[in-house]
This record gives sequence, C-alpha cells and structure tokens, in this order.
Amino acid sequence: MMKIEMPLAVRKIINRLEESGYEAYAVGGCIRDSVMKKVPSDWDICTSSLPEETLKSLGAENIIKNGMKHGTVTVRVDGENYEITTFRTDGDYLDNRHPESVTFVRDLREDLARRDFTMNALAYSEKRGMQDYFDGLTDIKNGIVRCVGSPDRRFGEDALRILRALRFASVLGFEIEKKTAKSIHKNACLLQNISVERVMSEFVKILCGKNAEKVLLEYGDVVGEILPEVRKMIGFEQRNPHHIYDVWTHTVKVIAGVKPEKTMRLSALFHDMGKPSAFKLDEKGVGHFKGHPDISEKIAESELKRLKSDNKTIKDVCKLVKYHDVRPYTDKSIRRYIANVGMDMFEDMLELKRADTMAQSPAYFEETIRHIDFLEKMYRAEKNKNNDFTLKTLKINGEDMKNMGITDGRMIGYCLNSILLKVIDGELENEREILLKYAEEIKKSIG
Ligand code: ATP
Ligand code: MG
Repeated sequence: MMKIEMPLAVRKIINRLEESGYEAYAVGGCIRDSVMKKVPSDWDICTSSLPEETLKSLGAENIIKNGMKHGTVTVRVDGENYEITTFRTDGDYLDNRHPESVTFVRDLREDLARRDFTMNALAYSEKRGMQDYFDGLTDIKNGIVRCVGSPDRRFGEDALRILRALRFASVLGFEIEKKTAKSIHKNACLLQNISVERVMSEFVKILCGKNAEKVLLEYGDVVGEILPEVRKMIGFEQRNPHHIYDVWTHTVKVIAGVKPEKTMRLSALFHDMGKPSAFKLDEKGVGHFKGHPDISEKIAESELKRLKSDNKTIKDVCKLVKYHDVRPYTDKSIRRYIANVGMDMFEDMLELKRADTMAQSPAYFEETIRHIDFLEKMYRAEKNKNNDFTLKTLKINGEDMKNMGITDGRMIGYCLNSILLKVIDGELENEREILLKYAEEIKKSIG
C-alpha cells in the first residue's frame, strides 16, 4: 500500500474527525504532489462531516468560519491554515465559473468526481489509504492531464480549468490527453467569462513552467483568448534572412530562453508583439519591422493594465521591451544605453537580448552574441567604477547648487541632469572638484 507523509497537524485533524465518527482525508494537489515526491504548497482536507459538525469535532479554537456556506472551515495550526471542506457536489454552472449551489454529500466518490483532473481527484488517509476512483495514480505515473468525466462538460462548468490544464502541463511537464486537448481548443472562447485576475495568475504559471515552450506552441489559440494580439503573431512569416521562425514561434523560443520568472517571461512574450503591425516589405521582397519595439511597448502597457498587473511589473516589462532591439556601438552610445535601461535592469536586458538572438537565424549568432558580450563588458566596467548613471551617484547634489546660488528647483534639476549626461558621455569625470567647476560654468552661461 502506498504511504504518504503528512504534516502532524493534518494527521491530527483527520484523526479528530475520524474519532468523532466521520471520514476524513487529505485531498487534491497535496496528494498529487506527494505522489510525485514534490513538497505540496498547501494541504486540503475533505470530510463527510457537515461544517457545523466539523466545528464541533475540532473545538472552537483558531477557527475561521468564512467559507461555511461552501462547506469550508479553516483551522490555523502553528501558523499554517488548513481548509477542511465537506464532501460536496456542485450544482449547475450557468456562467462557466460559479456553481449556482453546492450540495453536501456523505460519499467521497461524489466529491472526487467534481474535481478537475484525475491527478487531483486523489484522497488519502493513514487509516483508509489511497482513494483513487479515477485512475489518477496511473495518469500521474504516465504524466497525463485528463479531465474527470466529459471534458466538454467540465470546461463548460468552469473555463478556468482550461488554464489549469495548461498550467499542469507546463509546470509538471505532463501531456494533455487527446480528448481533453481537443476540448480545450473547442472551448477556449469560454475564457472570456473568467475574471482577468484568475486568468493572469494561471497564465503567469504557464509562462514560467519548465514545459512552457511546448504548451505555448500547441495552445497558441488559448493564449490568443487572453491576448488577442497573439492571433496575429501565429504563423506570421518574417521574410527576413535574420529569422527562421514565424513571429509566434520565435517569441515562444525567447520565452523559453529566459529565466522562469514573471517579468522576464512577460518581456519575452511582448517583445515582438508589435511586429505584425510594423511589417513592411522592401522592393527586394525582404520584410522589415522598423519601430516595432515602441509598438510592442504600447501593447505591453495597455494589455498588462487590462490584465491588472502590478505597476512595477508593467514598468519593468515596458522598459525591457522598449530597449530590447537597441544596438549601440560607440562608447558614448553604449553608456547612454546602459543609463536608459538602468544599471539595475541591465543584466536582465542582456539576458533578453541573448535569448532573442538565439531564437533567430544561426547564421548571425556569433556576430550578435559577440556584440552582446561587448555590451556586458562595458556594463561590468561601469559597475566596477560604481557608476550607476543616476543623479544619486553624481559626486555633487542639489545642496551644492544652492550653495552656488542656484535656488530655483527646476534650474537645479536642469543643471544636475546636464552634468549627468556629460558624465555618461565620458566628457566629465565623476569627481567632485571637476563637477563643481563645470557647474560654475553652466551657472555663468545661464547668467
Ligand atoms: P496548487 O495548490 O499546487 O496550485 P492544486 O491542484 O492544489 O494546485 P488548489 O487551487 O489548491 O490547486 O485546489 C485544490 C484542489 O481543489 C485541486 O487539486 C482540485 O482537486 C480542486 N480544484 C481546484 N480548482 C478546481 C477547479 N477549478 N475545478 C475543479 N476542481 C478544482
Ligand atoms: Mg493546492
């Protein structure tokens, strides 16, 4: 018999409910993860007791009652919350999201039948062992995401399950079973009924999964439901010798080529999204995308706002997208480039540029990567000199301006910024005496 290690608190809760004459199990994702030898993110418990009965069995301490209507009682043990939910079936879904009602039942099988995928329809207790009515263990062993019951019906009830399926495929490296996959393509449009917050939370996990490349290529249509611009990218041939992939395939390869972290993966996703609208064929029949980073940046900004991303993410993604295709060659322009991107984000910028290059034609890898290496060398040199190209690291500040008799705030800003540009351009050294002398000159010139 398979044995699962459970936290002490979970065992105690289950035992307490069993002692009171009910059935209780750890259920869902925590059992899936344990079977896969991963550490579960949370432990959910299901039980045959009604919420009031659960309360009575556990005593009133550390109990949060706010999910009672849906059958959930939350207990807090040693700083962790555990949700204990009464076996239930869901009533009809009229909006592809919420059941109209829930019905409490006394039979575990019915509770497991309402769960999304076979791998999540597992329950376990020490006393009763593994409960696997839908062959979830076999599907886990074979790495398969399969709906419990009819996929069309299950996705119709709750369209978020479409993204959960893609998430498990991406994060766990599972295959989506054929009928489930077919139904996902068929029902993708139902995602329009799901709130952007829930969509975005699953979508970011899909982007950051180890199998993101395969999932995004196979389910571009689903991504197109979340971001309509993606529909234009799929199959958009670039007709340019630098590129061997269409815009979407290229984009997906860049996503897979950067570290699995939200800002980087989103930047990769958006970096070329403006390409379809920037596309122009020249007289030789070669495709060009002049100005596409600015268009991509605008799309990133408005779409991330619509998807209720936080401001810091929007700002960072926009910066990486806007500057991803800048290729400066002179010392001066490279330093200005570093200053524009910001010292704090320049390593991410380099990473995006490398991934972007590696997803283009191999004929140009070497040359382009050598250039990126050169940018990195310049960046490291500036970093070693503690230059971060912001007003903060200038060896003079607003106080000095005031002491020189420049009192107008705007004028102080103007002086400091023109001095900063000179420093970035390498025309002035960031030494206090030198900068003070130069400030005197500016003061004279503006009278
Ligand atoms: P993780 O916690 O790692 O994100 P999980 O599968 O545990 O993944 P939870 O949101 O914690 O996801 O849900 C716990 C369990 O509840 C799931 O394993 C599944 O059995 C069930 N479940 C969650 N969301 C749904 C859904 N939309 N439709 C059907 N069952 C669901
Ligand atoms: Mg969970």
